[in-house]
Amino acid sequence: MTEYDLVVRSRRAVTPDGERPAAVAVRDGRIAAIHPHDAPLDASLDTDLGDLALLPGLVDTHVHVNEPGRTHWEGFASATRAAAAGGVTTIVDMPLNSLPPTVDPGALTAKQEAARGQCHVDVGFWGGAIPGNLAELRPLHERGVYGFKCFLSPSGVEEFPPLTPDEVRQALEVIAEFDGLMVVHAEDPSLLLDPTGPTYPEFLESRPGASERRAVEQVIELARQTGARVHILHVSSADCLEPLAAARRDGLRVSAETCPHYLTLAAEQVPEGDTAFKCCPPIRSEANRDLLWEGLAGGVLSCVVSDHSPSPSDLKIPDFAAAWGGIASLQLGLPAIWTEASKRGHGLPDVVRWMSANPAALAGIPRKGGLAPGNDADLVAFDPDAANPVDAAGLHHKNPVTPYHGRVLKGVVRTTWLRGTTVDLTAPPRGTFL
Ligand SMILES: [Zn+2]
Repeated sequence: MTEYDLVVRSRRAVTPDGERPAAVAVRDGRIAAIHPHDAPLDASLDTDLGDLALLPGLVDTHVHVNEPGRTHWEGFASATRAAAAGGVTTIVDMPLNSLPPTVDPGALTAKQEAARGQCHVDVGFWGGAIPGNLAELRPLHERGVYGFKCFLSPSGVEEFPPLTPDEVRQALEVIAEFDGLMVVHAEDPSLLLDPTGPTYPEFLESRPGASERRAVEQVIELARQTGARVHILHVSSADCLEPLAAARRDGLRVSAETCPHYLTLAAEQVPEGDTAFKCCPPIRSEANRDLLWEGLAGGVLSCVVSDHSPSPSDLKIPDFAAAWGGIASLQLGLPAIWTEASKRGHGLPDVVRWMSANPAALAGIPRKGGLAPGNDADLVAFDPDAANPVDAAGLHHKNPVTPYHGRVLKGVVRTTWLRGTTVDLTAPPRGTFL
């Protein structure tokens, strides 16, 4: 019997200690050891990636799969194919846009039944906090959801209404009892306006950074009062960085994420009528984008996750006031971020921290998020210098809509391994529920 099932060698293995030559040795789906690059090892399969980078599989904690109920928007088969092709080996599905939304244990069962047998990567679930479901939070927690999502402003779908600040407090009190996590879409509805017309500048003006900042301040105050752990989703406005940094200095358990589109796209470049770029909160100015990179570099923003929220093309009409707000990018997050991060002097270990280690730690997903002994052998061979021209029609996403269409990104995922086995999109799916 051989000692290892698989050894993957790379001169650029991104471990928790940084980027270095290494041989990652796998047994029974887990990383058994990390050896020197050229160590002689006894393995059934021994692969040398040479100068291709070896990364831990990415962990995307913000994905709207939409199945059951809106499977024509996105489903588990297509979403997890896109994930695997993009180097994402774990997704955590958001509770809304599917029908029913995941706001009670029965809805979680319905979602898992719908997903069963279709997933090419491992899948976890968020629950939802909406008006009237306080009594469902603990049962959902006991069923294994990683936390609860709530909105302060309308979510875009009527079956998932927002909470008032007082309802958020009540939910946080319940969640604090079992030391759970609340993840918040933070825009204050009192500062949102109706767009005055169909163009991007009019849409952008209708969702000012002040609305995000005010909501973030409210949530931080509620975290202070209740002691609950909260996480701010998809920060788009750099106005939020100051209150978030202050909350960290005060020792509050408040974290925040941003998304590839806020870090790589900018309002100035949105083509006329191209609502593939519409999301809420919106993509803002180039100057704001630079500040978000500073927030990321300084650790105020800890995670970069996709907020993959696709819709069919016919909901992306060329009217920014009326089109569906959501960006499809699950397959493209890694090259999009690497393209911009490398220009700004960041390395692959930074990208891995933002897109794998920190999201895994945020949700508290065991055995994910790093090339370390004991972890699942979720691995990605990434060619960091290869050109990656994006054609929306060639992506695995169900609908061929993405704002990256026509761009040439840097970096190509060559192979993805899930728990020690290459992901083969033509073979039966091997993903499990987390
Ligand atoms: Zn979202």
